[in-house]
Amino acid sequence: MLVLCLLLSMNQGRVILESPMEMQVFQRDGRDRGRIALRGRLEGMGDVLEARLTGGKAKGEWKPVSFDDRVAGFAATIDAPAGGWYGLEIRLRKGSALVAEGSVKRVGVGELFVVAGQSNAANHAEAKLKPSTDKVVACDGSSWRVAEDPQLGATGNGGSFIPPLGDILVERLGVPVGFFPVAVGATSVREWVPAGVAFERPPTLTGNIRSVGPGQFESTGRLYQALADRLRLAGPAGVRAILWHQGESDANQKDPNRTLPGGDYRKLMEEIIRASWRDGGRETPWFVARATYHTPEDKRSDDIRLAQESLGKTLALAGPDTDALDGDHRDNAGKGVHFSAKGQSEHARLWSEAVGPWLTRQTGETWPGRRGPGAVSMAPGGRFRQHAMDRPRPPVVTPPEAGKAPSDAIVLFDGKDLGAWKTDKLRDGKDAAPWKVADGIFEVVPRTGPIVTREAFANCQIHIEYRPPAVVTGRGQGRGNSGFFLVGHPEIQVLDSFENDTYPDGQAAAIYGHYPPLVNANRKPGEWNTLDIVFVSPVLDGRGKVVKKARYTVFHNGLLVHHDVEVPGSAVASPISLQDHGNPVGFRNIWVRPARDYDNP
Ligand code: MG
Repeated sequence: MLVLCLLLSMNQGRVILESPMEMQVFQRDGRDRGRIALRGRLEGMGDVLEARLTGGKAKGEWKPVSFDDRVAGFAATIDAPAGGWYGLEIRLRKGSALVAEGSVKRVGVGELFVVAGQSNAANHAEAKLKPSTDKVVACDGSSWRVAEDPQLGATGNGGSFIPPLGDILVERLGVPVGFFPVAVGATSVREWVPAGVAFERPPTLTGNIRSVGPGQFESTGRLYQALADRLRLAGPAGVRAILWHQGESDANQKDPNRTLPGGDYRKLMEEIIRASWRDGGRETPWFVARATYHTPEDKRSDDIRLAQESLGKTLALAGPDTDALDGDHRDNAGKGVHFSAKGQSEHARLWSEAVGPWLTRQTGETWPGRRGPGAVSMAPGGRFRQHAMDRPRPPVVTPPEAGKAPSDAIVLFDGKDLGAWKTDKLRDGKDAAPWKVADGIFEVVPRTGPIVTREAFANCQIHIEYRPPAVVTGRGQGRGNSGFFLVGHPEIQVLDSFENDTYPDGQAAAIYGHYPPLVNANRKPGEWNTLDIVFVSPVLDGRGKVVKKARYTVFHNGLLVHHDVEVPGSAVASPISLQDHGNPVGFRNIWVRPARDYDNP
């Protein structure tokens, strides 16, 4: 009775839609378009079958769909723009009367991947992850859903790299991304070959292996079959690529007789790849990762890695090298073989960097750095997404109190002694700096010569405090003159330029002989002044020739007086020198902070 009511409500007919499935993604053909496979059966008599896409970039026009009324079935495609989700409607008409209709709420055209291999391609990682958008989906061979860990179709109850990889690709490419996870934990490549390919050494675990004669084994073909099935299921344009992450169960086995020689690894991979091309009806690209890591004590097998590398240069494309992901990238506090949450995220990033540039060359897009609405947002350097929470936190540094150094500085004068400084004019064979230290400051002793730091500094921030004499004597260049040098580069002038005229490129805070300061920020004679300098070292070529000049940025009493100006000099690392110009200028609180790198605390 219920069935009858349904049939009546559907105008006495039915469209039974087998394809597309709810949330299914089809591989796009180029950058902007793809084809959605329509397949199903019809119940009820009609003469026109038609379908349309709604939502997003779809135009919503009804398009005829050919069908075979002898078997009451249809198998066709409908063109669709690549992009977001569309609604699909299909209807059977007889004249103007509606006989039956069917629909799918969400179907998309974007990028498709098969993910195969062993545990680190399956769900054996430490953290169960979720994509941040419903446009990252996965299919276990019978249905599609948002690709939350654990992924259906692969083994394990933990996490994978699929959600973060999907997020990166969706953000970068602006299309939905679908995965067919088929990886199985602890499997050897020997278990993945199609049935009928014989080999001599059985793997450590033999669940998918059978004996076919004395010293001869073959795979049951079950794992390969799952992979080949997904290729057939994918639709009119197949999948973009097969992502292969496997090798641990072939490398360095406890029983050395179960270890697979690299040459055999390569041969068996060739069998799998060629079989997938034959059975899939197209040469779907394979990306082969370098994956042989077991423990901190057994980080790699060069034999298997070489085979993976050689595949990546010939029959396949190079996937990421994940053997480099050690320490806190691994579970069990860095002792495990599987990835930690941090490792999963890094694994995904490495895959995106292996696949993304190649993929965008196929579609005519650019990777990275696509800009515009909805485009992404990798932070400069390409290692992290914008607003990524897994970015290293900048180190905590205690900022200086007035007259003190910050906590991470190299202190060149702390009020006590000039141990960090020396003189070139030896006295009694000693190079101790001869200037006067008293009351927490030091002072130029006229005609003793300059002093210079024992240490040299490359790219850095430098802080200096100085005080011209309170009692004014002399004028122009003769009043409170000293100076600050990164040896080999121009002087930054120290002078009493408070109501004391001289040539502008020689007044206080000038880059002497090159640039006057942008403003005159001098305090009165006898008061303390600050100079804060950012020094960017020059870049030299192999012969020592400057290919990128050194640069200064300088603040005088907190005011910008030079902004990123080029200066001559080829010294990459320089000691700091203070000038003896015959005036008793005082100094205090001098420190240097070597420049830090982003994301490298
Ligand atoms: Mg000077």
